Amino acid sequence: MTYEEKNGIPAPGWSERLEHPDIVAGLEKRRKRAIGCGVVFIVLAFLTPIAISLFVKDSIAMGEAFKYGGVIAGVLLVCTALTALANACKKPFEGEVTDKKEELRRSKSDKKGEVSYTKEYVTYVKLSTGGTKKIVETTARDASAWKYLKVGDRFRFHPKLAFPYELYDKSKAEKLFCPVCGKENPVEADRCKKCHAPLVK
Ligand SMILES: [Zn+2]
Repeated sequence: MTYEEKNGIPAPGWSERLEHPDIVAGLEKRRKRAIGCGVVFIVLAFLTPIAISLFVKDSIAMGEAFKYGGVIAGVLLVCTALTALANACKKPFEGEVTDKKEELRRSKSDKKGEVSYTKEYVTYVKLSTGGTKKIVETTARDASAWKYLKVGDRFRFHPKLAFPYELYDKSKAEKLFCPVCGKENPVEADRCKKCHAPLVK
């Protein structure tokens, strides 16, 4: 069996599938659905106090309901816009994992003056452009840099994909994650079992 034949994974290299029309279309559909959900959520947040005012006897006056609805919807809108902006600012990069460490981060003391710690999973990366980067995660899910990337792995980060990490040597992957919906797939699969998008091979 040649290297190329194994699970349909080609020899080490960057995938040419990222520009595949099915992936591009799938990501666009996902983006539109996210916008649609956001709009529905914000409109519902605005309408809820008004509905309470209308249907719950002796609850809040209509004028107050409009005010509350406006404030809640406004806060949600700002949060959504900031999250979208933060995501849009994420830049792609290429690098190699140099180290991985579990670290405890000291959280701000609460009102009682108690100190708490949050566990962080930190993946240290040497960038191909020079310089270093830390990928900090607070959970160790399968679909995270912490679980997916090993020390020594060369990889690319594609911020627009549902699962953003691409290994240079994909034969090292234990599983594949869909670029469009993020679903876990076996390495033998060619397309996602959930949304049928081509997997990054
Ligand atoms: Zn999928």
